[in-house]
Amino acid sequence: MKILVLNAGSSSQKSCLYEITDATLTQQPPQPLWEGKIDWTQDRSVAEIEVKTATGEVLQESIDGDSRTAHVAYMLDTLTHGATQVISELSAIDVVGHRVVHGGLDYRDSVIITEDVKKAIAHLSNLAPAHNPAALEGIEAIEQSLGNVKQVAVFDTSFHSTLPDAAAIYPGPYEWVEQGIRRYGFHGISHQYCANRAAQILNRDLTSLRLITCHLGNGCSLAAVNNSRSIDTTMGFTPLDGLMMGSRCGSIDPGILIYLLRQSDYSAESLDHVLNKASGLRGISGISSDFREIKAAMEQGNERAKLAYDIYVHRLRAGIGSMLASLGGLDALVFTAGVGEKSALIRQAACEAWEFLGLKIDVEKNQQQPIDVDIATDDSNVRVLVIHTQEDWAIAQQCWQLLHQ
Ligand code: ADP
Repeated sequence: MKILVLNAGSSSQKSCLYEITDATLTQQPPQPLWEGKIDWTQDRSVAEIEVKTATGEVLQESIDGDSRTAHVAYMLDTLTHGATQVISELSAIDVVGHRVVHGGLDYRDSVIITEDVKKAIAHLSNLAPAHNPAALEGIEAIEQSLGNVKQVAVFDTSFHSTLPDAAAIYPGPYEWVEQGIRRYGFHGISHQYCANRAAQILNRDLTSLRLITCHLGNGCSLAAVNNSRSIDTTMGFTPLDGLMMGSRCGSIDPGILIYLLRQSDYSAESLDHVLNKASGLRGISGISSDFREIKAAMEQGNERAKLAYDIYVHRLRAGIGSMLASLGGLDALVFTAGVGEKSALIRQAACEAWEFLGLKIDVEKNQQQPIDVDIATDDSNVRVLVIHTQEDWAIAQQCWQLLHQ
C-alpha cells in the first residue's frame, strides 16, 4: 500500500511517500520512497521546494505565485515526473494522511476525512489559527490533484483525549468547561510514537510502563504515559502552556497579562505576538530561538544566553517533576525532537535532578549522538531513552490501521 503523508506547518508543508506491507509495520520505521518540503518562511509568495528520493535524487527549486495549493500541486508533480519520479501516476497512491493539530473534543481518534470532518477542522481554526487552516489547504490541494482518494486526519490532540478531568480542567469558573476551555495537549502524534517505540526498544509491553516523554523542539511539551495512555501533559488549551520554548513563554502568571493590558497599550494581537514569537529562549537571550545559538553564546560568556538556558532547564525539571507526581513512579524518561535528540547537555541537566531516585545516565553513551538507544547506566533505577521522533511514519501507520479495521 502506498501512503502519502502531509504535515502542514504555519509556513511549511512537509510530505513523504511510504510503501507499507504487513511486514514493514513490525519492523523499524522504513525510509520513505520520496520526501518533499515547501518552505514559505522567507516570503509568502515564494515557495522554496526541496525533494529527495530514497535513491538519492535531489531537486531544489524556487517558484513564485500566491496560491499555496498550486505550490503543493507542483511538489506532488515531482512524484510522477523528472529525476525524482517514484510512481507512474498519482492514482497509485492508496491513501493520504494529514497531520491536523487540533481535533477538539469530538475527534479522539484518526478519521477518514469527509465534508463534516473538513467543517470541524475549519471550525477549530479559532483554537489553532496557525495550523488548522494550513492542514485544510493540504486536504484541498490533494482533492484537486488526486480527486477523491481516501484521506485521513490524524490529530495532535487525540493522544491526550484520555487525560483525567483533574489534569484537563482549569480551575476557572465552571462555564469554561462548558465552553470547551480545557487542556487539550499537543505533540500527541510524537508522544504516542515515542511511547510505542520506547516499549519496543525496552522489549516490554507498553501497558506495563510508566513513561515521561519529553518532546523538546522549537515547541516543547512533556507527557506522562501510564498503561499506554496520556494521563498528563504540559501544553494546554493552546500550545503556549507549559515549558519554556524557542520563542514561546510557556506557563506564566496570568496576572502578568492583566497587568500588561491595564498598564500598556497591548492588543490581543500584540500579546499573541509577544507570548508566541518574542518570548522563550529568544525573548530572554535577545539572540535566537535556536538552542544551538544559545549554547554557543553561553559558551562565549553571554549572560543573557546563560540565563535563558538556566530558566529552560529549571522549567524542564519542574515539568518532569510534575509528570512524575501524576505517574507516581517512573520506568523510563524519553527525550525526543531537535533539542531532546541532539543536546547531550540538556539531557544531562534534566537527569541530574533525579539522581536521588537512582536515575543515572551513562555520560559516554549520552555524548555519542544516541538514536533509539537506552543511555542509562546498567544499575540505574529508571531507563533513559533517546528516540528519533517519526511523526510522519506514525501518521502512515494510523492510515494503514484505519483502512484495515
Ligand atoms: P520543530 O519543533 O520545528 O519540529 P525540531 O524538532 O527540529 O523543530 O527542533 C528544533 C530545535 O532543535 C532548535 O532549537 C534547534 O536549535 C535544536 N537543535 C537542532 N540540532 C541541534 C543540535 N545539534 N544540538 C542542540 N540543539 C539542536
